[in-house]
Amino acid sequence: SAIELADVVKEYHSHGEVVQAVKGVTLGIGEGEFFSLLGPSGCGKTTTMRMIAGFEAPTKGVVKLYGQDVTDVPPNKRDVNMVFQSYALFPHMSVWDNVAFGLKQRKVAQAEIRRRVGEMLEIIGLTGREKRMPRALSGGQQQRVALARALVNQPRALLLDEPLGALDLKLRQAMQIELKRIQREVGITFVYVTHDQSEALTMSDRIAVMNDGVVEQLAGPREIYERPATAFVAGFIGTSNLLAGAATGGEMKVGGGRVLVPGHDGDVTVTVRPEKITIGTDEPAQGLSAVKGTVSEVVYLGTYNSYAVSLADGAEITVFQQNAHDATATAERGDSVWLSWQAQHSYV
Ligand code: ADP
Ligand code: MG
Repeated sequence: SAIELADVVKEYHSHGEVVQAVKGVTLGIGEGEFFSLLGPSGCGKTTTMRMIAGFEAPTKGVVKLYGQDVTDVPPNKRDVNMVFQSYALFPHMSVWDNVAFGLKQRKVAQAEIRRRVGEMLEIIGLTGREKRMPRALSGGQQQRVALARALVNQPRALLLDEPLGALDLKLRQAMQIELKRIQREVGITFVYVTHDQSEALTMSDRIAVMNDGVVEQLAGPREIYERPATAFVAGFIGTSNLLAGAATGGEMKVGGGRVLVPGHDGDVTVTVRPEKITIGTDEPAQGLSAVKGTVSEVVYLGTYNSYAVSLADGAEITVFQQNAHDATATAERGDSVWLSWQAQHSYV
């Protein structure tokens, strides 16, 4: 692995109280991987990053970079670079000088600086704008300069802590694709911190979903979306329906119907994604999970409709249905409906 954390704990002492920000995180990040730490505000993402960078020492546990224990190695001796959310550029320096700054500091030869800065500006798509001052750039361009400034030092890993947080939605989405492209092009390890699940799903090879100082699931985007390991992950990533109850013979009785949970018995929690559910008025065939309810809300969302359906036992289920070219809503508020889905689409 490029980066390894082994049972890392971080406690802060503030006002006579002990805050456990990170409660035993173990993970390995591969060389060249786009790896995200995803979780709500305060779950310990920044603290974890700062321990990788060396700005914080773990209370317990080991940090390794490229196989070497760096737990006690200072940040400037670690082969990683960090980009922060507040990516303040030097305001009195041109784009070129901002990017070249670190190399000049390290007394890299002039010709080498010219080559590397030129190459970097090309990668970030700012060739021709090297004389511009930061204030004459858009937010997205400034962010790309900040990225170039970190990448030009050729770190083996780049740590990015919510780097797109200050940008508006459209620009953020464009930059997500841009960041992924740049990472592929330079081929170095990116560790990316975000609280935005769609951002993590878009860019990452793998994601560690954090909650309250622990990693609840570590897997690829698809696995995390389709097979959430915990109720927290299911709720945090996308929209999900949770149904809880007692199963007997691989079946759980819910809302005047059944949820199929083959191979399970006893108390279970089942998740099913809104887009996996079919809504209709006819009783579904045997062999499907099927529950009965009343439509309490229909929301038109352009490419799809979102239905809220209340079951007899009070549970509420969200259903997404694509709008076909000739679509009219298949159900309306107040309608009695059946919801059905294949057993393979409920994850226990
Ligand atoms: P995130 O980046 O996921 O929002 P942080 O790593 O910044 O979370 O913080 C995790 C927890 O640790 C929070 O409860 C936060 O208040 C606490 N914390 C972070 N830094 C400090 C600090 N320097 N002193 C005391 N508590 C801190
Ligand atoms: Mg943070």
